[in-house]
Amino acid sequence: MDINNILNSLEAKHPGEKEYLQAVKEVLICVEDVYNQHPEFEKAKIIERMVEPDRIVTFRVTWVDDKGEVQNNIGYRVQFNNAIGPYKGGIRFHASVNLSILKFLGFEQTFKNALTTLPMGGAKGGSDFSPRGKSDAEIMRFCQAFILGLWKNLGPDRDVPAGDIGVGGREVGYMYGMYKKLVNECTGTFTGKGLDFGGSLIRPEATGFGALYFVQSMLDEKKDNITGKTIAISGFGNVAWGAALKATELGGKVVTISGPDGYIYDPDGISGEKIDYMLYLRATGEDIVAPYAEKYPNATFYPGRKPWEQKVDIALPCATQNEVDGEDAKKLVANGVELVAEVSNMGCTPEAIDTFLAAKVTYAPGKAVNAGGVATSGLEMSQNAEHLQWSAEEVDRRLHEIMKNIHTQCVKHGTEADGYINYMKGANIAGFMKVANAMMGQGI
Ligand code: GLU
Repeated sequence: MDINNILNSLEAKHPGEKEYLQAVKEVLICVEDVYNQHPEFEKAKIIERMVEPDRIVTFRVTWVDDKGEVQNNIGYRVQFNNAIGPYKGGIRFHASVNLSILKFLGFEQTFKNALTTLPMGGAKGGSDFSPRGKSDAEIMRFCQAFILGLWKNLGPDRDVPAGDIGVGGREVGYMYGMYKKLVNECTGTFTGKGLDFGGSLIRPEATGFGALYFVQSMLDEKKDNITGKTIAISGFGNVAWGAALKATELGGKVVTISGPDGYIYDPDGISGEKIDYMLYLRATGEDIVAPYAEKYPNATFYPGRKPWEQKVDIALPCATQNEVDGEDAKKLVANGVELVAEVSNMGCTPEAIDTFLAAKVTYAPGKAVNAGGVATSGLEMSQNAEHLQWSAEEVDRRLHEIMKNIHTQCVKHGTEADGYINYMKGANIAGFMKVANAMMGQGI
């Protein structure tokens, strides 16, 4: 495999897609050796096929705001790869959304979904629409207009979207409601739905819960445990909330949360009603964490800064891609961080990852750590298909099992000669081999 050649040809075809190239490069470097042991992959041009999405749907989303003004946004769905099952992946509404970001997310999703062992292909969608400051009625009109542009490409065995940044239960409900009007069917072609109309118990907290189950397995592997460990979390949305809840329940002490305005350090730990307060802040739609320090005076607000400058045992980036850079990683390592688990997708830059690997800090990538969200979406699809709702215990048990299994796959493929577990390598090899074999089995 000539990695530079592949990257150069991608760059020539799709210039400027830097997040996408970053995601592809990471996977190629990790799988190079196993790929080279399979000449049949080369013959079938597996890599060239894997790095181009099956299909990209782009559409204009026109809607009317509360002032009666017409607004235009761009909508996308990147149907990346369905070798393993129907396209599956979230929808992101954020001003930063572009094709490079959605392609990187769809590419990552393909391997992440493969790791869950459930039959789901990879996709991602979204819009440059920013929900910030929008009224509930505007959000609803936007969601409805978005689905008018996309519905023909969706279906329970074709493509099943869910939430992501800027898209939670409310937005999924509005999109699903419009979709149902158009197809006149209740097949559950969306996951993360409300509990009263086909949603699964545990889905809202699943990404965070799953991440902590994964962290537990990483610590078990080191003959360690989470009791009393200090934990830095970034973000304060659904993912950060689920992670903080489970980390606290398991005996860890969460000391930070963050928003676009800066971060909060709370030496007393962010637990109990303080975790609910995170959600309340989120619901105000202001996207800020500063009020936390007014309510809990022992906490300090650090405006415009990231939590990675604090001394903690465990770092859990839960916000967005590339939120931990090389400088942040150096600070974490200098302060003695023991474990870094990305809960956001591609939360660390390549420089940050190199820093963790060089320091032999236990580090795991988002596609393994945060797979519990989409895995529980897969469980929601199963419940919809059999017209049943499972108990919270049942869903949680299966989620826990899936996360343990992903951990086992990472250890199997990522353990190096000196015993260090390279989770990034392990996750990429395990995911890649499953997708490659599925593609091989289905011919050219
Ligand atoms: N957006 C989530 C992810 O990045 C969940 C996707 C889903 O449930 O389909 O995995």
